[in-house]
Amino acid sequence: MTQIALVTGGTGGIGTAICQQLAKDGMHVVATYRSPSRADVALAWQSEQQELGFDIAVQCMDVSNFDSCQQAASEIRSNHGAVSVLINNAGITRDGVMKKLSVEKWDAVLNTNLNSAFYVTKPFLDDMIEQQYGRIVNISSINGQKGQFGQVNYSAAKAGIHGFTKALAQEVARKGITVNTVSPGYVGTSMVMAIDEKIREQIVAQIPVGRLAEPAEIARAVGFLVDEASGFITGSNLSINGGQHMY
Ligand code: NDP
Repeated sequence: MTQIALVTGGTGGIGTAICQQLAKDGMHVVATYRSPSRADVALAWQSEQQELGFDIAVQCMDVSNFDSCQQAASEIRSNHGAVSVLINNAGITRDGVMKKLSVEKWDAVLNTNLNSAFYVTKPFLDDMIEQQYGRIVNISSINGQKGQFGQVNYSAAKAGIHGFTKALAQEVARKGITVNTVSPGYVGTSMVMAIDEKIREQIVAQIPVGRLAEPAEIARAVGFLVDEASGFITGSNLSINGGQHMY
């Protein structure tokens, strides 16, 4: 039976590569985008994917809002069927040193990067339990492992993802559901290309492999973790950071 995979933030840099990887692996993939105002962008992205040979569905879902997630989940269930593979990938940065960081930036990053894992996973978990099968991968970050200057919000949210993963992995292990984290280092997407070029050069200088990651290199690891044959890997974290943080 074809598996239904949901990738939040599927139209973004890493999300696109994950969607393509899972589609190549034979799954029916649904990619989410943030708001109705972004529907035209999502449809253009969908056409681009079609031209590349990937048939990927799109769905509006604001991962920072529980009601939006519940509504999207019921639309996905009726339009596509029960989701068995969930990739919690959507994320944002709103950087600033603690002294200057606003409550708004704190809340936005915590809601989008951490609360979202709960908001999105909750409405899909019952279906996975009923199927006695599921694969969940949460995208964290090297900066959730080691902390990053100017990112107390992002580092805290991404660190929280590890606790979420490990606790949920224990709760659902007997139901055939695995829950894992992937922690990318710096990847050449818009999130990183928005960083000042000089700072980016300094970042690359700290990466033993000597370059940024390609989104496909993150997607490959996600594909491995959601494979049916990966059922004994749960509660784990896979760091993909070019050797920048060995932990
Ligand atoms: P992008 O900015 O390219 O993509 C982020 C995606 O998340 C976009 O599709 C965006 O949608 C979506 N998104 C943002 N807010 C919401 C929301 N409230 N509801 C639904 N979707 C939302 O980032 P990346 O591809 O680089 O990042 C993907 C993940 O990888 C993130 O979790 C990020 O933290 C993590 N990561 C990235 C690293 C990097 O170097 N790039 C390093 C480590 C981790 P829209 O376009 O509509 O705004």
